[in-house]
Amino acid sequence: MCAAGRARGHDLHCDPADCSVSLRLAAPRPPRPAPAGPADVAAPPMDRLLKAAEVAGWVRRLGRLPDVCGWRAGSTWQGRPVWALEAALGGAGKMVSLPRLRLLKPTLLVNARHHANEISSTNAALALVWELAATEWGRAALKRVNVAVVPLENADGVATLEALLPGAADHKLHAARYNALGVEWYGDYFSDAPRFPEARVKPALWRRWLPRIVLDAHGVPSHEWDQPFSGYAPGRFRPYWIPRAFIYAVIPFLDRPDHPGHAGAHELARVMARALAGEPEIEALDRELGSRYRRYARNLAPDTFPPAASKTLMVLAPEDRIGGLNFAVRRFPVTVSEIITEVTDEVVSGRLLALCARGHLTVAKALIDFLGRRGPGRLDRAHPESGGLILAWRPAAGGV
Ligand SMILES: [Zn+2]
Repeated sequence: MCAAGRARGHDLHCDPADCSVSLRLAAPRPPRPAPAGPADVAAPPMDRLLKAAEVAGWVRRLGRLPDVCGWRAGSTWQGRPVWALEAALGGAGKMVSLPRLRLLKPTLLVNARHHANEISSTNAALALVWELAATEWGRAALKRVNVAVVPLENADGVATLEALLPGAADHKLHAARYNALGVEWYGDYFSDAPRFPEARVKPALWRRWLPRIVLDAHGVPSHEWDQPFSGYAPGRFRPYWIPRAFIYAVIPFLDRPDHPGHAGAHELARVMARALAGEPEIEALDRELGSRYRRYARNLAPDTFPPAASKTLMVLAPEDRIGGLNFAVRRFPVTVSEIITEVTDEVVSGRLLALCARGHLTVAKALIDFLGRRGPGRLDRAHPESGGLILAWRPAAGGV
């Protein structure tokens, strides 16, 4: 018996003298260090650009907070890591059932930094995870909502940005907008064989969480605009010659009264506008930029320049070129809306960067509160005649 036990890796000893058998167990391991408490991790900075190496450090630190999980969700074309952070009560990715988490609570998926020179969304995404783990608001929110975050999606673009910035600190650096090959890869999200590995991360997080709402945080130039009469007007970006607002949002189905997501789109616009109305500095900048845009662009060439910021948050329907590349358009009603937020952050620092990041953060928190206010749904039980029991989860009623 001892020989058979030892052959299977057990530390067995037999003493023929008294016919005893003893089994030696491994010494107990020292207890694991306690997870970091909220007080051990300071809030990420909002007013300075975070380099990719710093973002990796923040993912590690935030991942040690209760109910936050940080992990490498993929790689880029050039082999750089793309991180994910998940905040869910019980600790997503640890000893919990992910299908249960995503079934019983709605999820918000936040994607930051698809365009690497639109810098403020990374600060906002990290600050959001910190607030979820370390503040009273966040702890209450996580009782009703899960949040998954990609804090820096385009890591190759960020490497280009970091190479260019020292010599051109005041430039908008559109060369760092796309990936390592200078390619826009929005369309690859929905391809079975995406050309670039970085295009796999957001869809993987989408499949993992089946988010009710996706927030894709972007930006537009804040300065160094192409000058009128310079003889240069890039075709696709002509309407972006001058900022139209400090922050605005692109929401699908706004212009589709026949679509079941239409009423929900308007509801989401009101939710975000109400939240931003509580930010007087953002409102003042919004008014100023909106007024300039109307005078120098919209009033002169309304066919080129869409409407400007008004008293409330400006919302637009997606342009044709990106309209079909939206998770809500492609995956409705699992995802009822994928909202793009745009702030004037190419490339800003200091107070302006902090305000841009606060704009993204305010919208994300408003969407989390909104999802949390919805009823949790109900569990239906059915007893079919053939026997057995069928359980089905019915999400709360309502457009969104
Ligand atoms: Zn963008």
